[in-house]
Amino acid sequence: AHAAAATAPVTPGALKDGTAVPLLANLGKPGDAAAAVALGAEGVGLFRTEFLFLSADEAPTVSAQRAEYEPLLASFPGQKVVVRMLDAGADKPLSFLNDADEENPALGLRGLRALRAHESILRDQLTALAEADAATRERGEGADLWVMAPMVATVEETRYFTALAREHGIRTAGVMIEIPAAALLADRVLAVTDFASIGTNDLTQYTMAADRVLGSVAGYQDPWHPAVLRLVQSVGAAGRAADKPVGICGEAAADPLLALVLVGLGATTLSMAPAALADVRALLRDHTLDDAGRVAEAALAADDAASARAAARAAASS
Ligand code: PEP
Ligand code: MG
Repeated sequence: AHAAAATAPVTPGALKDGTAVPLLANLGKPGDAAAAVALGAEGVGLFRTEFLFLSADEAPTVSAQRAEYEPLLASFPGQKVVVRMLDAGADKPLSFLNDADEENPALGLRGLRALRAHESILRDQLTALAEADAATRERGEGADLWVMAPMVATVEETRYFTALAREHGIRTAGVMIEIPAAALLADRVLAVTDFASIGTNDLTQYTMAADRVLGSVAGYQDPWHPAVLRLVQSVGAAGRAADKPVGICGEAAADPLLALVLVGLGATTLSMAPAALADVRALLRDHTLDDAGRVAEAALAADDAASARAAARAAASS
C-alpha cells in the first residue's frame, strides 16, 4: 500500500474561487517523501540533489544516482517531481565540482556554471534521471518528471541546458530564476525552455547584494522587499504571456501571506518545506485570485520589506 493511503487525504491547494494552486514539497532525500505526502504535498517542486552527495569525494555514478531517484519518483506516482541538477558552490560546495579556490564563491563557478565545466557529471545526472524515469514507468509507478538547472544567468545557458536535457530524452526541462539577470530577461528565457522556478533565497541575496549566510547582513535577506517582488512580478507576467508555468521554490513560499502575494504576482505553483504546507493551504483557501492581485499590488507599492508586509496584511484583511 502507498504511504498516502494510511492517512486521510488532504485537499489540494486552491483559492476561495476554486483557482488551483498546487502545493509542492522541497525535499533533499527520497526518505522524506512519505512524510511530505502525508502532509498533503501534491508533488515535489524542488528536489535538491546536491544534498545527497555533500560528503562524496567523487562524482556519483549513474547507478548510485538511480538508486536515489527511483524511490523518489515512485513516491509520487502520476504527480509532478521537479529535480534540480546538482547545485554546487558557495553555501553547498561539492568537492568533485568546486575545485577552484575562489574569493567570492557566491559569484563564482557554481550551479550550472560548474556543471558545464564538468559536463560529463551533468550528462551522467541526466542519464540517471532518464533511466529512473523509464524504469519507474515500466513498473507502473512513474511520476511526471521535470528537470531544472540552478543558477542560470543567461538565455544562452537556458538554451544549452534545455537542449542537453532533451538530448537525454527528458520531456520537461526548465531553469531556476534566482539571478536578477535571468528575472529581467524572463520573457527571453521562457521562450527557449518549458518552465521557470523562482528561487527566492538566492534571488533576494543577489538583488540585495547581501550574502544569505552572513549574519551581519541578515536584515537584507527578506523576500518581502519590493525590489524582489517586482522581479517576481515580471517573471510572472512573462509566464502568463508565454503560457508557461512559473513556480516558486524559495523559502518565501512558506510564509502564508507572502505565498498569497506570490500567487497575485503570477506564480502558478508553490513549493516549500512540508511543515509549511498546512498553513499556506489554509490561508489561500480564504482568498480569491482578485484578492491575491490586490494584496500583491499593496505590497509592490511599498518602499521596504516591513511596509510591504504591513500593507499586504492590511489589504488581506480588508
Ligand atoms: C533558492 O535559492 O531560493 C533555492 C530554492 O535554492 P537553494 O535555497 O537551494 O539555493
Ligand atoms: Mg538557490
